Amino acid sequence: MSLLPLVGSTTQVPLLDGSTTTYANLDVAASAPALQSVADRVAEVLPWYASVHRGAGYLSQVSTALYEESRATIGAYVGAREDDVSVITRNTTDAVNLLAGCVPGRALVLDIEHHANLLPWHRVEAGVTVVTGRETLAGTIDALARELVRGDFALVAVTGASNVTGEALPVGEIVTLAHAHGARVFVDGAQLLAHRRFSLAATGADYVAFSGHKLYAPYGAGALVGRRDWLDVGTPYLAGGGAVDDVEVGETSWQPAPARHEGGSPNVIGAAALAAACTTLGGLDPAELDRHEASLRGRLVAGLSALSGIDVLRLWPDSEEPVGVVTFTVDGIEPGRVAAYLSAEHGLGVRDGRFCAQPLLKRLGLTGGAVRASIGIGTSVADVDRLVAGVRSLLEGDV
Ligand code: PLP
Repeated sequence: MSLLPLVGSTTQVPLLDGSTTTYANLDVAASAPALQSVADRVAEVLPWYASVHRGAGYLSQVSTALYEESRATIGAYVGAREDDVSVITRNTTDAVNLLAGCVPGRALVLDIEHHANLLPWHRVEAGVTVVTGRETLAGTIDALARELVRGDFALVAVTGASNVTGEALPVGEIVTLAHAHGARVFVDGAQLLAHRRFSLAATGADYVAFSGHKLYAPYGAGALVGRRDWLDVGTPYLAGGGAVDDVEVGETSWQPAPARHEGGSPNVIGAAALAAACTTLGGLDPAELDRHEASLRGRLVAGLSALSGIDVLRLWPDSEEPVGVVTFTVDGIEPGRVAAYLSAEHGLGVRDGRFCAQPLLKRLGLTGGAVRASIGIGTSVADVDRLVAGVRSLLEGDV
């Protein structure tokens, strides 16, 4: 049973034999379905939207208030400190690119990162150092520590939880290490926040980014939340109306953050939807979410591991219980074929490929990719059992 009501949880999809079945969405790590409360909020605010920060009309005033209230709710959800700033972005990718334009120095990253937290750092003039291939989490943290001693880094940019294995990084420990060497910490929360609560204030991390569409809100809105100083003076991310203070032809003075990075007409409906998701998820007992995910993940891993020819990926034997992301390979069968079979024959949505984490998949020797199933607040025991049964029938040659 879903922990919270979701839109589309009874959607019927066609199967190859001409019948239909209820879709089992085991691809929530890519994009999660919307919460019903989010859909209700969008319907509620839709009649009210008008130009934000630009008009004097009543609807503009309402929209401006709505946008700024949403910003405050989004910041509060990730434990923003009083002087932190929340920039509304399109998604996590957008947020990391924005931050990369503001970092006054080198960045240090791991090779397990999603491309969104890897490629933007390659574009930073001062450069990036990538820590690669360690067999244990402790060894990985040691390697980070050694780089911190060796180099002069402004920022350590780490994922909160891997979108490939679901393994979570010890953010607090990394913050202590980085701060001791004068570096700040950015957490890519795209995956983590869909599964666990996260707080800037509690962890001491300096920045976090996340995406609405992974947090049970629709596409189009995400956020970068964190320390104000770099964002106040960094390269304006989107040059245009709203981001500026004064403009002469050829000469511009810019607003501080967040306006500095939010040129153009803002996505007020998206921000309201994301804020509604934050409010609803904030009311969910984190321990209940952990129990739900851990039991379903355990059931899935046990079911898959009992089948011959299935390998469930883990990076580090010493990492804690991963979040609800399970990536596996099926011996002798291409990931794309596995995923297509599960969809066409069983109505199961999983992801195949390299998960925008090509360096990691290459390191694991999986140049052909793998299959990923992910668990969220709407995932049920029946969904997990259907997946295990689907993989079993594939292995038994029911193709
Ligand atoms: N970081 C991680 C860990 C992700 O899983 C994803 C998306 O899969 C992203 C970043 C990028 O998110 P978005 O596509 O919403 O920008």
